[in-house]
Amino acid sequence: MHQAPEFSIVLPVYNEEDNLKTLADGILNAMTSVTKSYEVIFVDDGSTDGSQEVLKKICDQYPTFRGLVFQENCGQTAAFDAGFRNAKGKVIITMDADLQYDPGDIPSLLKKLDESDAVCGYRANRADTWVKRISSIIANYVRNKLSDESIRDVGCSLKAFKKECLDNVKLFEGMHRFFPTLIKMEGYKVVEVPVNHFPRKYGYSKYSIQNRILKSFRDLLAVRWMKSRYLNYKIIKQFTRED
Ligand code: UDP
Ligand code: MG
Repeated sequence: MHQAPEFSIVLPVYNEEDNLKTLADGILNAMTSVTKSYEVIFVDDGSTDGSQEVLKKICDQYPTFRGLVFQENCGQTAAFDAGFRNAKGKVIITMDADLQYDPGDIPSLLKKLDESDAVCGYRANRADTWVKRISSIIANYVRNKLSDESIRDVGCSLKAFKKECLDNVKLFEGMHRFFPTLIKMEGYKVVEVPVNHFPRKYGYSKYSIQNRILKSFRDLLAVRWMKSRYLNYKIIKQFTRED
């Protein structure tokens, strides 16, 4: 690719071999209505199934697709981080690689960037087990209460960001669940749009309720602390000797 693309779509991949080809076709199809240039970056987070081979084939076939492969499984936040650092677009779109999201929603997210700096999807009809749905409602409630936030569905991966929003955000493991809060702290405007959500057909969920709740609660306390200690100063005068 000679010229930098306008949009970069970043997708973490961990053992998603049966989802990748259909996903790539879905993205190609959805992006036909978008006139600006784009790239797709799959970040293989140390998959142990055939994901790497499938990604290689996709990237050989389509010049707009790239793949980054981790040595070992490092977690979803690390995969996002690698994608962000390697993205060439002015806008970054994030999505899961498990076919639970609809690439057809991307154009509506991009449109909302006209009036904001970042757009977060929320799953209007979430297609997960009731246990997952209820735990997510509780988790969102607790998260919003403790971090003085109002984001409906932080677990929804489908998001779009102007690149500069992410430039000053230092990511730590688990922080992908707090992108909107971290960005708002930097003074950027975040809006929300409803998006589609489908049941997982192939592969398996990488998170159990227990480990997600415990880890993200610890992360929540870290974000709450960061928010309370955020440096917020304005220089109102400068004195220098004028020669
Ligand atoms: N994922 C990843 N590394 C991990 C765990 C998950 O890259 O250690 C990817 C996974 O392949 C998928 C996305 O992150 O593309 C979300 O994972 P999953 O679908 O298992 O989460 P759920 O939808 O169950 O919350
Ligand atoms: Mg999923």
